[in-house]
Amino acid sequence: MTASVLKEKLAARIRAHGPITIADYMATCLADPEVGYYITRDPFGTKGDFTTAPEVSQMFGELIGAFCLQAYLDLGEPDSFQLVELGPGRGTLMADLLRTASLRPEFVEAAGLCLVETSPALRKVQAKTLEKAPLVPVFYDRFADVPGGPLILVANEFFDALPIHQYVKTADGWRERMIGLSETGELCFGVGTGRLDDTELPPETQNAPEGTILETQPAANAIAQEIGTRLARHGGAALIVDYGYLKTATGVSLQALYKHTHDDVLAHPGEADLTAHVNFEVLARAARDGGATPLPPLEQGEFLLRLGLLERAGALGSEKSHAVQEAIRDAVERLAAPDQMGTLFKVLALSGDGRALAPFDM
Ligand code: SAH
Repeated sequence: MTASVLKEKLAARIRAHGPITIADYMATCLADPEVGYYITRDPFGTKGDFTTAPEVSQMFGELIGAFCLQAYLDLGEPDSFQLVELGPGRGTLMADLLRTASLRPEFVEAAGLCLVETSPALRKVQAKTLEKAPLVPVFYDRFADVPGGPLILVANEFFDALPIHQYVKTADGWRERMIGLSETGELCFGVGTGRLDDTELPPETQNAPEGTILETQPAANAIAQEIGTRLARHGGAALIVDYGYLKTATGVSLQALYKHTHDDVLAHPGEADLTAHVNFEVLARAARDGGATPLPPLEQGEFLLRLGLLERAGALGSEKSHAVQEAIRDAVERLAAPDQMGTLFKVLALSGDGRALAPFDM
């Protein structure tokens, strides 16, 4: 079954049952069991559709390893805890993280490694990447299936892949944006009957002009709330890195990436990556509702610099060739410069009991 078959599958479903939500579309494109984008491929790197921070440089995962190790020490070195990663991609971040965290052998001895990953193709890649790692991963389909106990959790570019809904402001209030079929049988956007209760929206969105679009992320919020509940019950820390915004705002952030270029969201279902920016304000609120304490988020550049990105880069490049040093400098730029990943990406830390987590402010 090829991916263009997914377009036909979606069209048949719409003809039979009517327009689908953007969330349905996203979930089907990314996770259809036969031809879903993540289910069938390894999308990372120059040959794939996009490059993530752990694939830019080992320094990213190493510094997150330093965060995890510090969190473990701050927790009082628990005898056992779950080291969890949501959506581990190629497993690169975890491999780099474990190299740093192994500096304290007790960390590895106490940790159970839980990888939450739905894609069979990527599970294989992750197992291979972690072949020489000091821990053997156990795979889970959902975070809810991860065993109890104190938690140290990381998620990089996971939440942006979860289905979002879009609402359009009309004369009749916010109505859900749907995907239906045009007269020529092509997928197209339309407005449905679903409504958004806007009583909790900030005033500037309530006064938005007609045609304004607002995105919501109930799937992401539900997972954040569950993480919050676990952290409050068993203790621990979570680190969520993603591109997104810190205050609820209107506008479309849903985008398709196809072979490293922006693509029409409806053009290549199942063949293009679909993501949406994460609303960190509501994500943090959901985690708080679960019982955890969100700390004020940092931009990725600031987060990495506080953890010692420049020092690590210096150590890594010392006594290396000019070309290697140049590549390390490029990686620092990509990860931390404001015009690259440095400000677009945000880092949210959640604390189980409200204690401080370096390098975040309280
Ligand atoms: N963290 C990695 C990969 C980010 S891409 C990196 O930074 O390189 C998103 C990852 O989340 C992929 O591994 C994808 O297969 C996984 N994923 C997407 N939706 C998921 C879901 N609902 N449940 C579990 N994993 C999911």
